[in-house]
Amino acid sequence: MPRGVAKRDLPTKTCPVCQRPFAWRKKWERDWANVVYCSDRCRRTRPAGTDS
Ligand SMILES: [Zn+2]
Repeated sequence: MPRGVAKRDLPTKTCPVCQRPFAWRKKWERDWANVVYCSDRCRRTRPAGTDS
């Protein structure tokens, strides 16, 4: 019997910096649509190919 939401059912995105998939986190629940990077570290790093 299902109980709650399994981790594998969480929405995921792929980080454009490290190219790794990352899953929804509680801290992003109000801002998931705007989340692009998997971490603050990646957010500060420009994706490869971005030149300005
Ligand atoms: Zn990343």
